Amino acid sequence: METKIYQITSQAAGSDIIKQAASVIRSGGLVAFPTETVYGLGADATNPKAAGKIYAAKGRPSDNPLIAHICSYGDLSDIAADIPPEAKMLADMFWPGPLTIILKKQSSIPYETTGGLDTIAVRMPAHPVALGLIRASGCPIAAPSANTSGRPSPTLASHVAEDLDGKIPLILDGGEVGIGIESTIVDLTENVPTILRPGYITEAMIKEAVGQARTDPGILCADAAIRPKAPGMKYRHYAPKAELVIVDGEASAVIQKINTLVKQQQSQGRQVGVLGTDETRGAYQGAVFRSIGPRKDEEGIARHLYRVLREFDADHVDIIYSESFFTPGIGQAVKNRLLKAAAHQVLRV
Ligand code: AMP
Ligand code: MG
Repeated sequence: METKIYQITSQAAGSDIIKQAASVIRSGGLVAFPTETVYGLGADATNPKAAGKIYAAKGRPSDNPLIAHICSYGDLSDIAADIPPEAKMLADMFWPGPLTIILKKQSSIPYETTGGLDTIAVRMPAHPVALGLIRASGCPIAAPSANTSGRPSPTLASHVAEDLDGKIPLILDGGEVGIGIESTIVDLTENVPTILRPGYITEAMIKEAVGQARTDPGILCADAAIRPKAPGMKYRHYAPKAELVIVDGEASAVIQKINTLVKQQQSQGRQVGVLGTDETRGAYQGAVFRSIGPRKDEEGIARHLYRVLREFDADHVDIIYSESFFTPGIGQAVKNRLLKAAAHQVLRV
């Protein structure tokens, strides 16, 4: 299959390109498109065959459900049932935006879309191209991240092409995404709103909106006995091809430790990468160094994370040592993704 890539500006949300993309969605095909979090791989969420194509293109395990994207709050009741008041409170506060809400599903949504679950994940994205595409398609769009399963999520259209060229008909290229990390997922089918995946919207922000919130214990630790509730969170994910190890501690001790490790690895003939910040550029000897940006720019770190992990693939390194960037806000989402990419290998110094 030939994959077409069309550049599209946010102003062109009602254009012929959108109409063409919407007709692909309506006829059961796949379209990759930009959202404010990461690029999504979209299909008609009400069409079981179309949803099935997403799993095939991504190589995604069939028990890993998809997020359905809508363009107006009024469309929520078409796909979700038993909607509690908290859903409206969260939507008023954070939609359109990087928050996904889990609710009971309606019969309009097939089990192919929900990975066999009776619940559905729903989000209204804050990107004019995404909203324009959903509106023009006239259906909710199921869209997981547009990467091959297990790889870092795409923050540029070129990342989508790297993974899915020849497997999907169309990629809408809207440039670099704004946030760079997938949406926060909050489950409203539990007694207390429960965060199943951390993101830009933090637990504190959700507490402020609805009075209470907690985080699924299954995503905070490496203990395989505690299973995360979001099926997707149990797989190794976001990973570069090389082994990744996080070195956490006071800055000068981290630099010293990484330099020692680099020397050891090189003496065994291995190519080493180091993931640091603008401040530590020049601090490491003999490794391929990549900066994630200035340390104080939390949002920049989130936005650059997946791109930098992909760049290490092109460097053909065997192992990557990463500094840690675990600040309290979106840094917690960065921590979650980096720990998963590293399969929880952390050296504390
Ligand atoms: P992605 O869009 O690729 O970032 O993946 C969607 C994430 O949402 C995965 O981690 C899924 O496991 C999770 N998810 C989607 N639907 C549900 C659901 N009904 N219940 C729990 N988690 C879900
Ligand atoms: Mg994903």
